[in-house]
Amino acid sequence: MIQLSDLRPSPLQLFEEQWATSIAWRKSTAQDRKERLKKMLQWIQEHHDQICTALWEDLRKPAPEVDLNEIFPVTSEIKHCLKNLDNWMRPKPLPTPLPMLGTSAFIHFEPKGRALLISPWNFPFNLALGPLVSAIAAGCTAILKPSEYAAHTSLLIQEMVSELFSPHEITVCLGEKELASSLLNLPFDHIFFTGSPEVGKIVMKAAAQHLSSVTLELGGKSPVLIDASANLTDAAQKIVWGKFVNCGQTCIAPDFILVPENKKEAFIAEMKINLVKYYDEEGKGIDKSHDYARIINERHFQRMMEMLEDATAKGAQVEIGGNGEKSTRYLSPTILSEISSEMKVFQEEIFGPLLPVLTYNVLSDAIALINSQPKPLALYYFGQDQGNAKRIMVETSAGNMVINDCVLHFLHNEMPFGGVNTSGIGKAHGKYGFLSFSNEKGVLKQRVGFNNVSLLRPPYGLRVKKLIATMMKWF
Ligand code: NAD
Repeated sequence: MIQLSDLRPSPLQLFEEQWATSIAWRKSTAQDRKERLKKMLQWIQEHHDQICTALWEDLRKPAPEVDLNEIFPVTSEIKHCLKNLDNWMRPKPLPTPLPMLGTSAFIHFEPKGRALLISPWNFPFNLALGPLVSAIAAGCTAILKPSEYAAHTSLLIQEMVSELFSPHEITVCLGEKELASSLLNLPFDHIFFTGSPEVGKIVMKAAAQHLSSVTLELGGKSPVLIDASANLTDAAQKIVWGKFVNCGQTCIAPDFILVPENKKEAFIAEMKINLVKYYDEEGKGIDKSHDYARIINERHFQRMMEMLEDATAKGAQVEIGGNGEKSTRYLSPTILSEISSEMKVFQEEIFGPLLPVLTYNVLSDAIALINSQPKPLALYYFGQDQGNAKRIMVETSAGNMVINDCVLHFLHNEMPFGGVNTSGIGKAHGKYGFLSFSNEKGVLKQRVGFNNVSLLRPPYGLRVKKLIATMMKWF
């Protein structure tokens, strides 16, 4: 019997079908690309309710969070591209160094060609479509493989793309990691992967087979450093939101806190106040709040509970929270103290609603601890001491740094977003996203006939040698 899946084009067929389009799209104008983006924008605006429903089904994501964290980043990314694409695509003239006198040069931004996009489940709409916006802006074709765990949202994305584009332009392949593996065997011109560092390594290895370029948007343990000069009330308000939005399942969520030992109690007390304010003002319990999301699936719920048990078994103290309900995948916002380096919460990316609070006595100890771990995706500094803020910026490494807030930088579309080494390679958003999918082709124009370089040709007599020596001395 013929299965439905037998009738669907294989990844190889889709990939081959996109070849001719990718060549044709090299000539695409800013206007052509903007038309594609406008179609997307209109579709998103017309399907607001379906998007909210899909995200509720997948993550029980509150509608305001869908608007703010899923839809807005994509629509604002599109609008930013519509406004700036002409400028980004315009050939960029380069200054002429003296030894090149008589030549002119510029950068032509060429679409890389056929792109593969693989995305995660935590912001399944935003993180699938954000990179797609950049790919379209750069003039690439794309095959998008969204996460199998956010099935409702992934299906909706497939509906959108199949309504707006033909498969030889942009297409969505739904499936699990086996599908991702078969896609990764193909010689894409660029692979944009968002997900865990573990799978990022698999992606980079696969890309090496064909020397495909990669953008890897990965994860890690993003620290929050509370300085002695911090306003604790202000810091707690921001951190509690940034940590527990999307139930802590955010790549740039604060992973752990470093607070001066003598401020620990006051800071934890401030965080407790804000937890109640945000999620339990009426005192009915956070599990009754419509504003608090759920853990994506049973496997991740189990992972969180094991992490919590591991921490408490090794001496961590639950300051607040710690209540889990398997059937609804609810885990209350949980703040932990008395953390030690043997605990999983200290060793692994948490990616859920557990927040360990560590303490330090002198700033250099906090810096040393941050530097002893893999470079994080984001580092958050709370404090009013500009000297210390600068010290943290210079003496540590992270994909991005935010001073006196957290998570917010994701929405800044003029800013390069991404990690460094373990937390990522390459940058996304706005112009940086456009550049990820573009080959910056340097073009040099020489004049016809005699030019400066003619003087350097053989035979290498005394005159030529002197000229070369002069050039080496002065330029
Ligand atoms: P994941 O790495 O498990 O999966 C991401 C995607 O890769 C999915 O589409 C999945 O199907 C695919 N995949 C899984 N195994 C694969 C394999 N062996 N070969 C090829 N593809 C495979 O990540 P996740 O659980 O969906 O998301 C959580 C991780 O993503 C966290 O580490 C988080 O920090 C990170 N993340 C990073 C960003 C960012 O912008 N830097 C954003 C969101 C999430």
